[in-house]
Amino acid sequence: MSRVARVVLATRNAHKVEELNAILSEVVGELHLEVVGVTEFPEVEDVVESGVTFAENATLKAVQVCQATGMPSLADDSGLAVDVLGGCPGVFSARWSGVQGPDKDRANNQLLLSQLGDVPDAHRAAAFVCAAVLAMPDGTVRVQEGRVSGRLGRAPRGSGGFGYDPLLIVDGGERTLAEFSPAEKNAISHRGKAFRALAADLRELLA
Ligand code: IMP
Repeated sequence: MSRVARVVLATRNAHKVEELNAILSEVVGELHLEVVGVTEFPEVEDVVESGVTFAENATLKAVQVCQATGMPSLADDSGLAVDVLGGCPGVFSARWSGVQGPDKDRANNQLLLSQLGDVPDAHRAAAFVCAAVLAMPDGTVRVQEGRVSGRLGRAPRGSGGFGYDPLLIVDGGERTLAEFSPAEKNAISHRGKAFRALAADLRELLA
């Protein structure tokens, strides 16, 4: 059967592209979609993430990329919400320490650990949260959310994943998310849950 639709993934984060391709592989095969990265559209400008919620930012990205390309667009916004910090770093997760470049993740993790230095285990609850959005050229927008809960450890552990993965000890065990295999992470992760929910919207709107 010929491909019925091209869909743009509105992210330049290579780790996310990899995760999303794995998470969406079933619906992509079923609907004969062709998923292309936004990097294939150099004319599309970077979206200013001016929202204060994950859903607002993901919607901004998906809608802007959809309008610029004329194609159905998928975007996510995600981050770490720490209970004792009132949900921060939240939408500021990527830039929490202010450090850019290859040391960013390590600097973010170190800053967060030092901010929680005196906080006992009972108050170290946190969750990764993801809002996943599908924007259609006709203006239809669908939003789905997912989360994975746990508590923050006292030192980074594990070498998988990215970002704050080495800090979040996932509920129900003693492993950080960086100690999960990619397939295990996708099965329980905030992004996995949000995009699997969004797959139903893709089926409805693109089938
Ligand atoms: P975004 O790219 O604007 O969604 O920002 C996400 C930021 O939140 C990343 O740069 C990471 O710091 C953090 N983050 C989001 N998802 C994950 C994850 O799956 N593991 C670890 N950190 C994550």
